[in-house]
Amino acid sequence: MHDLFWFVADSLRYDHLGAITSAILGWKGVRFERAFAVATTSDPNFAALLTGLMPWESGILSQADWDAPPPAAPTVFEELKAQGWATAALGFPNASGFYRAGVDRYEEVYIEGESYDALKLIAGTPSPRAILIRAAECHAPYYGGSYYQACQAIDHVFHACLRLFDPDKTVAIFQSDHGEGLGEHGVMEHSGLPWECLIHVPLIMSWPGCPAGYTSYELVSHVSVHNAIRSLSLGAPSDSSLLKAAHGRPSGLEVTRVGGVASYEGHIMRYYALRGPRWKRMWEWNDTGGKSWFFDLWNDPGELTDLLRVAEDYSEPPPAGLRSAYSEDEAREIEDKLHAVGYLD
Ligand SMILES: [Zn+2]
Repeated sequence: MHDLFWFVADSLRYDHLGAITSAILGWKGVRFERAFAVATTSDPNFAALLTGLMPWESGILSQADWDAPPPAAPTVFEELKAQGWATAALGFPNASGFYRAGVDRYEEVYIEGESYDALKLIAGTPSPRAILIRAAECHAPYYGGSYYQACQAIDHVFHACLRLFDPDKTVAIFQSDHGEGLGEHGVMEHSGLPWECLIHVPLIMSWPGCPAGYTSYELVSHVSVHNAIRSLSLGAPSDSSLLKAAHGRPSGLEVTRVGGVASYEGHIMRYYALRGPRWKRMWEWNDTGGKSWFFDLWNDPGELTDLLRVAEDYSEPPPAGLRSAYSEDEAREIEDKLHAVGYLD
């Protein structure tokens, strides 16, 4: 049995990795350049990481209450604990119950604080140990007073933690739950529409025998991470999209899906997005109606040109718009998902 060291830097953007990359790549890890969140806020993303359920499956579509019903699946920590791992987590105070499920020792880290308590938690947990660190530095208000300084702090904490593990006996994961807006599309912090700055996340993973130093450009998601942990640690069937991608094969994901409920500019809205390697379709529904967008990310990575506004062919609202942009089977599956979360009657 190996250790699991799972470090989730809350709100860390994919493009602010700094020296972290070289630290874990020094462990000969695999870097995933196209990893995506499933929502724009923390709880739906952590629910997906811990249970493998998408927001419309877990029922956690936005920030959940402490006493919200748990997702209808065990967390990976419950599964690891049952198999003999010592489990510990460092997380936010008042976190929803599912964060603590299966966790022997839960310590709180305050948003204003720093995550050096992680060192004590790791050192005090016997192997085989499964440890989740939800680091708070990059979550507003930013540690040190700016996003840049917060990222530097994450870098230091992560390096210090990594030294407490043996690369030959550890599955190590470095990622974020979602990104952070620094002004793009008028977004500051994280909530609202699934713009790239909020859903594109850093992901680096290292495990004994992983393809050393490989960079994958295949689409993977939080559910992929969950499945990979179950394959590597619990011996679950290794059909993980992430493990396929790490070995240079197609991940099998043609689109990643994002959906949830958020408050945005004073109203509650539902959002959904399909993000393929090139095309991205995004929807919003609120009490005054709905809106959708369509982007060509190969030619417009900044999501500046909405093709729905320039190409008549794409101007139909869903579900008719879906039928024009996707195959019938694909559109039907998407419609089912939209229906499940109340987007379509
Ligand atoms: Zn978060």
